[in-house]
Amino acid sequence: MKFQAMCLALLLGSFVVTATAQQKKMKIYISADMEGVVGVVTSEQLGPQGFEYARFREFMTQEVNAAIEAAFEAGATEIVVSDSHGNGQNLLIEKLPKNILLVRSWPRPLMMMQGIDETFAGVIFIGYHTGTTNPQGVRAHTISSARLADVRLKGVSVSEAGLNAAIAGHFNVPVIMVSGDDAVVKETTALLGNIEGAVVKWASGFHSAKTLMPEAAYELIRDKVKKAISRIKDFKPYKLATPIQLDVRFKNYRPSEMLSYLSIVERTDAHSIRFTGKDMIEVSKFLEFIMTYEPSLEP
Ligand SMILES: [Zn+2]
Repeated sequence: MKFQAMCLALLLGSFVVTATAQQKKMKIYISADMEGVVGVVTSEQLGPQGFEYARFREFMTQEVNAAIEAAFEAGATEIVVSDSHGNGQNLLIEKLPKNILLVRSWPRPLMMMQGIDETFAGVIFIGYHTGTTNPQGVRAHTISSARLADVRLKGVSVSEAGLNAAIAGHFNVPVIMVSGDDAVVKETTALLGNIEGAVVKWASGFHSAKTLMPEAAYELIRDKVKKAISRIKDFKPYKLATPIQLDVRFKNYRPSEMLSYLSIVERTDAHSIRFTGKDMIEVSKFLEFIMTYEPSLEP
């Protein structure tokens, strides 16, 4: 009896240890854009040509750091961040903590979600903006403000948040929090349900907003990330039934003409094409391909 009891205790003990270890492991994915970062209103903050870009890379990095710190404090054990704006080389790598991994530059098959897989518990969007068909929001666009007038999944116009939520959904990972202006928080919660939203500025137009100060934005992001992780079981992955029909409307005429040479592409009107992918991975690769490929690519 004594020996049996000891065996049972040992067995239970190892079970408890395993269960605790499993409960404790929590991977969080952070996709970071820039248009929705505190204070950002025009291209002056958004790229190397802008006179304020260098300073706003700092604010973008600190917003991501606020999310990272809060996620670790709330129980995250591993974090992957993707630098998902412009050239994909905005975040100041030496200012990020040493215990995360960072995805940089393009092209990449899963675009703003490169590095996501089924082992993650949740996705956080930092610095996001509204989609191209939304009349509200600072720098509203989907993927490219210069090239695209609409992107639809299964007939429904999507923002980058919607597209990226569907990629995460392919891996059964829910989006748990978004930061940006009031319009993107409204748009994203309307699509994904009751996720946490950090409003760091209020859009007054495409190129204008009333904004929080950076330190206040970091505090708000910390707070919302903690809240989101504390109720991480509430969130459902945004899963689209397969196959997935993708419609892309170009601002110009010739991309749709050229793409219609491919038998996998249907030209649906002068500016628009349709592609059906077997899943979101195919849809993502197709989008990255049509936005990146040109025969002059080097090396
Ligand atoms: Zn974007």
